Amino acid sequence: MYTANKDRYETMQYKRCGKSGLLLPRISLGLWQNFGGKVPLETSREMVCAAFDAGITHFDLANNYGPPAGSAEETFGKLLKQDLRPYRDEMVISTKAGYTMWPGPYGDWGSRKYMLSSLDQSLKRMGLDYVDIFYHHRPDPQTPMEESMDALATALRQGKCLYVGLSNYDANQTKQAVGILKQMGVHCLIHQPRYSMFDRWVENGLYDVLKEEGVGAIAFSPLAQGLLTSRYFNGIPADSRAGGKSVSLDAHRVTPEKVEKAKKLDQLAQARGQSLAQMALAWVLEKEQTTSVIIGASKVSQIKENLDALNNLVFSADELSEIDRILGD
Ligand code: NDP
Repeated sequence: MYTANKDRYETMQYKRCGKSGLLLPRISLGLWQNFGGKVPLETSREMVCAAFDAGITHFDLANNYGPPAGSAEETFGKLLKQDLRPYRDEMVISTKAGYTMWPGPYGDWGSRKYMLSSLDQSLKRMGLDYVDIFYHHRPDPQTPMEESMDALATALRQGKCLYVGLSNYDANQTKQAVGILKQMGVHCLIHQPRYSMFDRWVENGLYDVLKEEGVGAIAFSPLAQGLLTSRYFNGIPADSRAGGKSVSLDAHRVTPEKVEKAKKLDQLAQARGQSLAQMALAWVLEKEQTTSVIIGASKVSQIKENLDALNNLVFSADELSEIDRILGD
C-alpha cells in the first residue's frame, strides 16, 4: 500500500489559475502516451506516485489517451483505487472530450450528445464521481459553439466537474467561447494550448485574450514531445517516442535542423546550470500567463530531472534574446 511522502508540499511551487481560487502545481503530469494498456501497471504506478510524492497534484487525462483510447483513464482508475484514493481531495484530475472516441456520429467533436456521454464514460473508467476540470478538447466547426459550451455548463451543474476548460481553441474562438460561458454564468478556468520554444503560436494573441479574461494557461508538450531534451542528440533510441509507434512523433520529425537547434540551446542551458529539458520548461513557466506546464514522461528519472527546472525560472534579457536568436536561425 502506497503512503505519500510527507514532505511532498515542501518543494513544489503553486500558482493561482487565472483569476480563480484554484492553485495548480507549476509542473503537472499528463498521461497521454505512456500510461496506456500496453504499459505495465507498475511502471505507470511508479511515475504517478513519484510525481505525487514531489507535490505534483495535477494529473491531466482525456477520453482518448492510451493507446488504446480509454486505457490511460483505466490505468489511472486502478491507481486511484489501489493507492491514491485517500488523497483524492489533494488532487486535481482533468479529462477532455473532443477527439474520436467511438464509432458513429456521436463519438467525436463537440455535440452535447457526445461530450456528456463521453464524460460519463471517463468517470466510469476512473471510478470517480466527478473530475476537477472538464475540457472541450478542440473546437468543432460543425457544431454551434453555444452547444459545446452548454455541454460544459451542464457537466458543471450536474456536479460531474468542478471547473471547465478549453483546449486548442485559437484566440478568437477562445474569446467567443469564454463570452458564451460567461452568459451562462460559468467562468472558464483554464486553456490548454501547445506551447514550447519550438511552437510559439500562443504569443500571437491567445495569451493576451487569456490575460484579459482572467483565464489560466497550462501548456502541453512543453518539451516538444522530447525534441527539447537531449533524447535525440545521438540518433533515435528504440525506447523513445520517435523510435516507437507513436502517431504524434515519428523519426521524420526529428529533423537535423531541430536537433542542431536543441544542441545550441543545450549549451545555453548548461551555462545556466540546467539541462535543456529544465531550461525548456523554465522558459514556458517564466511567461506571466503560464499557470503550469504538463510534462509527459516514460521514466521516473525524467520526472525528477524536470522537477528541478523550478530551481531556476529566471532569465536575463540577454539569455532570452540568445534563445530567440537560436530559434530564429
Ligand atoms: P512533453 O513535451 O513533455 O514530452 C514528453 C516526452 O519527452 C516524454 O515522453 C519523453 O519522451 C521526453 N522527456 C520528458 N522529459 C525528459 C527528460 N528529462 N529527458 C529526456 N526526455 C524527456 O509532453 P507531451 O507531448 O508528452 O504532452 C504532455 C501532456 O500534455 C500529455 O500527457 C497530455 O496530458 C497533454 N497534451 C494535451 C494535448 C491537447 O490537445 N490538449 C495534446 C498533447 C498533449 P520518451 O517517451 O521518448 O522518453
